Amino acid sequence: MSTLFIADLHLDATRPHITELFERYLTGDEARQADALYILGDLVEAWIGDDDDAELPRRIAQATRTLSDSGVPVYFMVGNRDFLLGEDFARRAGLRLLDDGTVHDLYGRPTLLMHGDVLCTDDLAYQTVRKQVRTAEWKANILAMPLEARRAFAAKAREDSRAHTGSTMETIMDVNADAVAGTMRVAGVDRLIHGHTHRPAIHRFALDGRPAERIVLGDWYEHGSVLRVDRNVSELRGLDA
Ligand code: MN
Repeated sequence: MSTLFIADLHLDATRPHITELFERYLTGDEARQADALYILGDLVEAWIGDDDDAELPRRIAQATRTLSDSGVPVYFMVGNRDFLLGEDFARRAGLRLLDDGTVHDLYGRPTLLMHGDVLCTDDLAYQTVRKQVRTAEWKANILAMPLEARRAFAAKAREDSRAHTGSTMETIMDVNADAVAGTMRVAGVDRLIHGHTHRPAIHRFALDGRPAERIVLGDWYEHGSVLRVDRNVSELRGLDA
């Protein structure tokens, strides 16, 4: 038996083959036989509210709900792209919401689960914006806007970000090593799993003289990426689109 982790799918109507890959993966044997599936943020490119009546959120809810109804718990933690996703959608989609920084026991080993953006402490500009937009007030203001206005707002943000990076591919500063060590120390874990940086890898290092592990999930821009964890092995691999 094994537990599966994905993040940074950035599902978007402009990349239908990735949405299809996600649907295919969730109905496949590996997902159907898993102990649980964890989605650690940035499932979508932009989330404008649980009341979005577009096709993409409907298809996502259908896919996760079907897996969850089949008996596989589907956990979801918001990322920086979908932090407006809330209880309403979670209920419809059969998602169990997790706070960023939750510790779950995986086969006897406590493991810290994060989206990963709070660990990128060298990016001061980002951390400042993050603090502003995560307040209840900012979220309430955005969600009070008509759906069409929120759609336009998201499209504009995407255009700005594209103009800035020159492509659809996000370039993100990496995590800060001291932030990683400090966060793992406080959580009392020797294993951390996160996404966000789009730098898939299994890093092994020493934390206070003891072996520790940081597993970074890959993005789903060109192909899929999945982490499979069981009692003995952590395996990170790509999925063909
Ligand atoms: Mn992210």
